[in-house]
This record gives sequence, structure tokens and C-alpha cells, in this order.
Amino acid sequence: MLNLTLRRRLIDTARAMNRTGLNQGMAGNVSVRYRQGLLITPSALAYDRCRPGDLVYLDGEGRVAEGQRRPSSEWRIHRDIYRARPEAGAILHAHPPWATTLACLGRAIPPFHYMVAVAGGETIPCAGYAPFGSRQLSDNVLAALTPTYRACLMAHHGLVCLAADLESVLALAREIENLARMYTLTLQAGGGPLLSAAEMRLVRDRFAVYRNGSGQDGETLKSGANGLTK
Ligand code: 13P
Repeated sequence: MLNLTLRRRLIDTARAMNRTGLNQGMAGNVSVRYRQGLLITPSALAYDRCRPGDLVYLDGEGRVAEGQRRPSSEWRIHRDIYRARPEAGAILHAHPPWATTLACLGRAIPPFHYMVAVAGGETIPCAGYAPFGSRQLSDNVLAALTPTYRACLMAHHGLVCLAADLESVLALAREIENLARMYTLTLQAGGGPLLSAAEMRLVRDRFAVYRNGSGQDGETLKSGANGLTK
């Protein structure tokens, strides 16, 4: 069997998605880039019952070799994101309650909180509705993620995220669900002011340094003339 360790990690991620309340039942799907294609959870199989051999390998065109289970009905979304976004190493789709609440209202998550920038832009967009498993849904998701978003809501459906690896994509989905909860609470309180585009750009600059784990912080970088740096 192709790469048992990776398959186990993929199943662990799918189970963690449900355990942490991001998803429930057989909804959602998870994949990881592998060789020229991807490994993805099978369609309509409970994650607790999923074994390494149940995962499905699709080649770069999305073709499934004989003898495998049926891949997730959203395989096109996964294939199309890997094709369009070379930085994507893992993709997670779930129906998290708070993110999906906003998605059912057709609302993007605007810059109400600086952490919205974790999704790669000023907002977390909401892709237009299309039936699950359809080519149109994949097209809508790809359009919403363009050019640099790492996550989008899906109208009347859920959330999709991409990241470098399985651990990061789960963490990103959890962060977005937390933001969706907080944003919904602000809406319940009547809504609040939003951060400007300039503030959000500054946050993204600071994130770049923060993630780097070394060097200067954003303030120091910007204050080279005030004596803090040479
Ligand atoms: P699959 O079981 O086919 O992955 O479908 C779940 C889902 O959430 C479809 O959007």
C-alpha cells in the first residue's frame, strides 16, 4: 500500500476534525498532496471506520485506479486547488457550525478582527452555492480563493481550507471556526467597526515575520530610523 504513515496521518486529521467539533458524521473530506496527485478520504464512510486502505489515490487528472473505493464527492475541489495552488499540501472541507451559519447567510467574514488575515487576505470570502460534488461548486470555490486566499466559506454548505500540511490545515480550520463564532457574536450585538485595508496589510506583513520565528518583529522592522535598529 502506498505510504502507510501518510494515510494514517490523513485519517487522524479527519477524525480530529470531528472530535474538535469542526464537523460531524460523514460530512467533510480531507486530502493530502501525494506524488503527481492526491490521497483523499473516501465518499460516505465514517471516519472512525476508515482504514488506511480505504483512502483513495487520484492522479493529477483526478483519475482513480481500479480496485479503490469511491473518492470523496468533492474530489474536484481538491484536485483543482492542488493544480491552481502549488503551496497547497493539504486541503480540508468541513461543515463547522459557526462558519456554516455565516455561509448559510451568504456572508463573508470581514476584517472585524486582525486574525482574519490568517486566511491570506482582508476577508474570508464566501463562494457561491452549487450542488455538492458538482464541477460548478469547484469553480465557485476556486474563484473565491483567487488569488491568495487560504480559506473560503461555501454558501449553504461549509468551509474549505488549504495549507502546507495536514497539521496546519486543521489548525487553520479551527482558527476560522473560532473567528466565525466571534463574528457571529458581534453581529448578534449589532455589528461593530471593521479594520481598514491598510491595517490588514500591516497585519499580514507582521504575520510574515511572526511565522518566520527569527529576526525582528514588525515594529522594529518598520522603525529602522528610530534607533532601534542599525
Ligand atoms: P463525501 O463523503 O463524498 O466526502 O461528501 C461529504 C461532503 O461534505 C460533501 O460536500
